[in-house]
Amino acid sequence: MKWETVIGLEIHVQLACESKIFSSSSTKYGMPQNTQASLVDLGYPGVLPVLNHQAVVMAIKFGLAVDAEIAEKSIFARKNYFYPDLPKGYQISQYELPIVFNGSIEIPINDKSMKTIRITRAHLEEDAGKSIHDKFDNASAIDLNRAGTPLLEIVSEPDLSSSEEASSYMQKIHQLVRYLKISDGNMQEGSFRCDANISLRPLGSNVLGTRAEIKNINSFKFVEKAIEFEVERQKAILDEGESVTQETRLYDSEKNETRSMRSKEEATDYRYFPDPDLLPILVEKDLIKEIKKELPELFDQKVDRYIKQYSIRKVDAVEIAKNIDIAEFFEALIHHFKENYQQAANWLLSELMGYLNKENISITDLTITADASAELLQKIHENVVSTSMAKIILKQLIETNDSVDEIIEAQGLKQISDRGQIEAIVKEVIELFPDQRDQYLSGKEQVLGFLIGQVMKKTSGKANPKMVNQILLEKLKENRRR
Ligand code: ADP
Ligand code: MG
Repeated sequence: MKWETVIGLEIHVQLACESKIFSSSSTKYGMPQNTQASLVDLGYPGVLPVLNHQAVVMAIKFGLAVDAEIAEKSIFARKNYFYPDLPKGYQISQYELPIVFNGSIEIPINDKSMKTIRITRAHLEEDAGKSIHDKFDNASAIDLNRAGTPLLEIVSEPDLSSSEEASSYMQKIHQLVRYLKISDGNMQEGSFRCDANISLRPLGSNVLGTRAEIKNINSFKFVEKAIEFEVERQKAILDEGESVTQETRLYDSEKNETRSMRSKEEATDYRYFPDPDLLPILVEKDLIKEIKKELPELFDQKVDRYIKQYSIRKVDAVEIAKNIDIAEFFEALIHHFKENYQQAANWLLSELMGYLNKENISITDLTITADASAELLQKIHENVVSTSMAKIILKQLIETNDSVDEIIEAQGLKQISDRGQIEAIVKEVIELFPDQRDQYLSGKEQVLGFLIGQVMKKTSGKANPKMVNQILLEKLKENRRR
């Protein structure tokens, strides 16, 4: 039997709000444990939740960006379950009427074509606290700082057909929420994580098979690995003629396997009911209009604009626009350096990104400003420094507080572009190496590289290579005539 893979993702996005979704506690990450949980987050009797307006605005932003419908009226529901990191005994979420529904997004597949993935809904809810199992020997600890952090849960239709598509979709949503600036998308800190629902069915069938749900995957690589493992596991079961159990599983990245956590709860297990403490969210048309007006330029538009307005190569436009932080750096860079946009793109993608990748840091960790970078680019453009010297200057720029000029001055990195000076050195080299000169003149042209190398050596690499090449050819020609 041939099997077809069916996947639907539920992505949890922590919204970039300063305060919690129903209280005024800070959402700042990494603070001392249990210092950011108010009585509301702790679920004390008698306290009342107050909805954070920013969270609503962010959910609408997302909805508009995925061409979804925005509910005029949506309601909060209590999802009841017991867990140590959920002191209230219920999570406030949205159930029957989510704020965003019926959206879709295009994802790139197989490098070339696009596929539309339908987004069933996106609803607002609160995050739970965190259980910490490695702090004490015989007990678990609870940190409730995260309790009440605003979340947007984005639920896809089961439209994804492979681990690669799932990862591509997850990356696209990640890129989108970062473009919209509704989340920092930090996956190490848990700001962006997903549950993957996976089932198999006979190829060509249109009935869904029984699914397993893998919880809390926090990397693009792990989502692929977890799905690949799960598909093989289910295949083996189905090939034996047995059936898959509907359950919640956990992905262990160290062992690269999924393990059963618990049998899957049904909606009825949660005894959902409208939260009597919260009014329905009523979204006025004007608010939607206002938010629509403020939507930023998104990935596809940015790529198009880079190609049209700046005439840079498509691959480079895509590479820069992939990450909003890099795109913003690029835009600041060319605001200060307008001589040659493609040159700016090349420098950013090879030199600066090369440095970032080598040091394994992100562009937002850099202290180097776009105008200092532009200054350096200008020096390369005007042949004041060579590309290899520019590499050294870039490293210094990043690692010290010195300016481009100070570094060039202090290190004596200025490129020699003075014709007279280079001519003198070229003459000297030709006299020093008469054998090589004769070899060149008798037709052995490869020797030119050796002679160029000697000139560069004499100038500690500072001579303008183009000029060296040109002057050397001229001088050798003169030698021939003699
Ligand atoms: P819950 O997991 O909370 O019960 P849903 O039943 O709405 O919620 O499904 C959640 C996710 O699981 C959605 O992304 C949906 O597309 C996906 N899904 C549902 N049924 C299947 C299935 N048989 N195979 C794969 N994915 C599925
Ligand atoms: Mg689920």
